[in-house]
Amino acid sequence: MTATRGTSAAIPGTLLQVAVTLPVDETFTYRDPRPGVCLPVGTEVIVPFGSRQVTGFVVGHPEAAAGPVRDITDVAGDGPAIDEPILDLCRWAAGYYLAPLGEVLRSALPRGERAIASRRIRLTETGRRLADLEAKGRTHMAGITLDGEDRALLARLHSAGTLSPTALARAKAGATARVAHLVERGLAEIVDRVAGPTKSRRHGGASGASVPAVELPVLNPHQLAAFEACKAALGKGYSGFLLHGITGSGKTEVYLRLIAEARAQGKGALVLVPEIALTPQLAARFRARFGDDVAVLHSALPPGDRLAAWRRLRSGDVGIAVGARSAVFAPVRALAVVVVDEEHDGSFKQEDGVRYHGRDLAVMRAHQAKAVIVLGSATPSLESFRNVLLGRLHRLHLPTRANPAAAARPLPPVEIIDLRRHQMGPDQLLAPPLAQAVATALSAGEQTILFLNRRGFSTLMHCQACGAVLRCPSCDVSMTLHRGREKLICHYCGRAEGIPARCPTCQQAALEGLGTGTERVESVVRALFPAARVARLDRDTTDGHRDRLEELLARVHAREVDILVGTQMVTKGHDFGGVTLVGVLQPDQGMHLPDFRAAERTFQLLEQVAGRAGRGDRPGRIVVQTFCPEHPAIQFLRTHDYEGFVRDELARRESASYPPFSRMIALRLDGRHEASVRAAAISAAGLARAQAGTAVLVLGPAEAPIRRLRGRSRYQIWLRATDRARLLTAARAAAQVTLPRDLRLAIDVDPQSVL
Ligand code: ADP
Ligand code: ZN
Repeated sequence: MTATRGTSAAIPGTLLQVAVTLPVDETFTYRDPRPGVCLPVGTEVIVPFGSRQVTGFVVGHPEAAAGPVRDITDVAGDGPAIDEPILDLCRWAAGYYLAPLGEVLRSALPRGERAIASRRIRLTETGRRLADLEAKGRTHMAGITLDGEDRALLARLHSAGTLSPTALARAKAGATARVAHLVERGLAEIVDRVAGPTKSRRHGGASGASVPAVELPVLNPHQLAAFEACKAALGKGYSGFLLHGITGSGKTEVYLRLIAEARAQGKGALVLVPEIALTPQLAARFRARFGDDVAVLHSALPPGDRLAAWRRLRSGDVGIAVGARSAVFAPVRALAVVVVDEEHDGSFKQEDGVRYHGRDLAVMRAHQAKAVIVLGSATPSLESFRNVLLGRLHRLHLPTRANPAAAARPLPPVEIIDLRRHQMGPDQLLAPPLAQAVATALSAGEQTILFLNRRGFSTLMHCQACGAVLRCPSCDVSMTLHRGREKLICHYCGRAEGIPARCPTCQQAALEGLGTGTERVESVVRALFPAARVARLDRDTTDGHRDRLEELLARVHAREVDILVGTQMVTKGHDFGGVTLVGVLQPDQGMHLPDFRAAERTFQLLEQVAGRAGRGDRPGRIVVQTFCPEHPAIQFLRTHDYEGFVRDELARRESASYPPFSRMIALRLDGRHEASVRAAAISAAGLARAQAGTAVLVLGPAEAPIRRLRGRSRYQIWLRATDRARLLTAARAAAQVTLPRDLRLAIDVDPQSVL
């Protein structure tokens, strides 16, 4: 592909290497015609590409161009949008994840960059691609449903380049909603076309100015040893640590001390946490310690605030960034400390667009910055644990709870209930020993957490007369019954429907819910313990509202809740002093997922939820009811034997050549028509096999476990090898497959999900 046509390179001006924000592998040469101007690397520019205008980033200054080059159209912003260290990280990520550099750079910028002042609407690269294809009469990117008016606006934006939202609104009623519709779908964006970033809002004064005085706990000997080891490594080049500390062992305190040390030396720090919205407590602790010197980057932050935080970091006004995976690109200055808390957490992996792993990128960023990185977890990933065995990470161990009252006690005992031995009625979700344990906790005035990793009331509805199961028409999954909302909901695409009175297949009034979600647990528990104050924590009760989540957590802290029923949201780092009992209902489904990581994930989840018990003054107790007590995840949990579990599981992975003993790439194809997806998948696999030789194992193509999602059929090809270079070669070969209209192919390096 070439974008070079027109102006001759012989005419004076500066040549620029530009990474455009399009799914193309190459970068292109353009010319800045202005004499004596040399745009620095990282500057965002608008350039002609084919017949369109696209955005891109200056990534280099070539000496000469191979052919004629075109002039850039415009410059966005009054300086580089991206600094050199972040650009280096993006370069690495583009190579590692087989992603176009321009797209990586774009995902490295906060949404809302260029979004202030004199606003204009323009199409995103996806929008442009779609408009292009539409213009050719091809609706390529199905999955995006547009009506006639959407299409008209899309076409108008495409030909005009940019439009003013105010002018649009004046010209046509309902235009604002149309624009919002396109923006929501990622097809259009609101930009400040040329003026670029506005001046940063001043904030808080010099760093550290308003840090409140707090009394610091005296580190226990384990914490002290860990802290000293990290501190000694500060300023001496890259060094990686695995802080393996049991739940509540005071890992966060170690991070805080290390960061304080870095700040005292005038250096910056970056802290990645999983799903920061779920752990307001953690952000609060950073604020309490560092005041205005912390930028908390959570997804609920309005784009303008996020942008402002970004600028304060970039200017050095603020020295510490705390955020979820995308914060790995935060422009922290003089980076010296990187922390990844709960490093095993699956949410560090981005599952669309540029599919990077936040933890792995953080390690690379620390490498490039010659910084210290601390990966913290009670249940480290097998990848990290193996890196300890290989000497790539130093392990620091916190084997006891930090709270002095709890420190003397071992982790709470785990009791396993074998459900095969209990005859339980259909509505009796708690086996008698667990019900008894809850009653005991209640009478002692102690709190209980009941954990079930499925939300909703019943996980499926079937007809007792004909056996039909109500499925989502666009996804290959059963609809979940939600009594609270009186709806059937698809947990994959969000489709919501009324609950039919009769079976749609046989018209009999014989529909019945099967399977248990947290809503049903809540109602059973209320009936069983009418005097108890019961609350539920899952995505339905918080519904993305930060304040609702915080309010609920505050009630649990204040002991206004006796029994908290919840999904994995209850496992996330909460430090509830009054919880003594944790009950786990049916971990079986997760254990038996067709995923080589199923056992690891189950163990991590159970150990995390178990860690919520007995953190305060009174000893805790964990009760797990399962149909499969002999499963290793359950057996090792019994004694909280993480290392035993890991060694056992590593041996299993090694004998089957799964990661971390090999590397994998998943090629994911989807499209409306099953037959064409299958055909393309077969060709892609053929291309991979032709390149692979014996060094790369090509598995598939096979239908994905969720065969249809949002109306699209899905196939996967898995590539596995020990040699990364060969693996990449095979993946690249497969990606060359000619895709018929409407098909998408995604390359997922180090895939985390098998679904
Ligand atoms: P983790 O991050 O390992 O889960 P935290 O850092 O949250 O553990 O510590 C658990 C609890 O113990 C917190 O309430 C914290 O304030 C407290 N804590 C941490 N370190 C100490 C210490 N050295 N002395 C007393 N309390 C501590
Ligand atoms: Zn669906």
